[in-house]
Amino acid sequence: MFDKFREECGVFAIFGHSEAANLANLGIHALQHRGQESAGIAASDGTDVYCHKGMGHVADVFTPSAINSLPGRMAIGHTRYSTAGDTALLNAQPFCVTTNKGRIALAHNGNITNAMEVRRQLESEGAIFNASSDTEVVLHLISRSREKTLSAALRDALLQLEGAFSLVLISTRQLIVARDPHGFRPMAMGVLQVDPPAYVFASETCAFDLINASYLGEVEPGEMIIVDDDGMRRERYAPRRQKSQCVFEHVYFSRPDSIVFGRPVQKSREMMGRLLARQRATEADVVVPVPDSGVAAALGYAAEAGIPFRMGLIRNHYVGRTFIEPTQAIRDFGVKLKLNPVRHLLEGKRVVLVDDSIVRGTTSRKIVRMVRGAGAKQVHVRISCPPTISPCFYGVDTPKKEELIASRQSIESIREFLEADSLEYLSLEALAQAVQDERNEYCYACYTGSYPTDLVSVEDLVTAKLRR
Ligand code: SF4
Repeated sequence: MFDKFREECGVFAIFGHSEAANLANLGIHALQHRGQESAGIAASDGTDVYCHKGMGHVADVFTPSAINSLPGRMAIGHTRYSTAGDTALLNAQPFCVTTNKGRIALAHNGNITNAMEVRRQLESEGAIFNASSDTEVVLHLISRSREKTLSAALRDALLQLEGAFSLVLISTRQLIVARDPHGFRPMAMGVLQVDPPAYVFASETCAFDLINASYLGEVEPGEMIIVDDDGMRRERYAPRRQKSQCVFEHVYFSRPDSIVFGRPVQKSREMMGRLLARQRATEADVVVPVPDSGVAAALGYAAEAGIPFRMGLIRNHYVGRTFIEPTQAIRDFGVKLKLNPVRHLLEGKRVVLVDDSIVRGTTSRKIVRMVRGAGAKQVHVRISCPPTISPCFYGVDTPKKEELIASRQSIESIREFLEADSLEYLSLEALAQAVQDERNEYCYACYTGSYPTDLVSVEDLVTAKLRR
């Protein structure tokens, strides 16, 4: 319903706690914003690996009896969003399989850009695939590795992959966590102070807060962490490469109460708002965010510009997908389901409307109309990142390039389309400054069209996106 890039997954892992599955359930509940279509947890009690997964939200999939069916002191969890047409349970994670390295369960966040190529090769050698997810490719590579230990086989597999992956894996004995050498997708490490300490890993630290775990730091790009009864070992499995952490995590995906890539998201977003205000002075009466993701940037903007911040749009969080549009067309029905203007805050005002991104532009136009319809005298749209001109191939669901309004229209024609009085995007330089990227460690490909890895074949990637 909302016109946004969509994160595709959230992952969580824990080792060394008697309530591992229960804590994994809480962990993925905190990561629900990263994927709402399926949820799964795998756990091990040292003799077998058990798995439960289903379509829907975490709270619907994990009843008390489902959690009780997952015994043991280690667990991994996953929330998934998949592209339209293929939300099959077959692709829900974790994937639990029996291999020649024993029973294992694997879940990952990201997109393996050479998965189709590797899959074709494996299929030509007789491999059979069940699902269309690139995660299955990793399992095949592990199983076929000549290495004797699971960690060595995983290393062997990962070295054959390109693209983005932050993955968690359990066997009956070990938890293994790994991040791709560019570090596209986040993965934080924490500890729960029980005796002995329980190690936890998650896409975002908001998952640690819920279970009272302390944040220890990041799993480094190209690093593999192995946790078992002998303790925790960190090793580099791949040569060091230029980091390419997804800047969109700070712009939009991650929760503002998370630390991502070692930096508080709220801090980045407020700074984006401040820099946006510095970029172009605007005479206005109120600063209004598009909730929820525009709030932090709007706070920064208002503080920097000295203009009052007002919640002039209220979001309804309880919108399902089952509404049928009334046959007698109600204009902007979809947006009205989610947002409602606070007329007395907007009437007669010059409004700075702050949002985090414009994808196709259709929703933004409806919101501008809504604000104007509530009596605003002027609407000045401010976007806390640069124009989005290119799709993502690293684990984010994006429309095709030609559907991105900024890939084919100038800023002035986008302003006209939005029916806004003015439009300003944050510059690329200011975005880098907002996330303190002095060492050029972030990916900005959706703003520049310049991708940090070889894409193998864009056709393959498009096919892969369609299949997921
Ligand atoms: S292309 Fe954009 S969304 Fe994808 S990883 Fe890079 S910054 Fe993130």
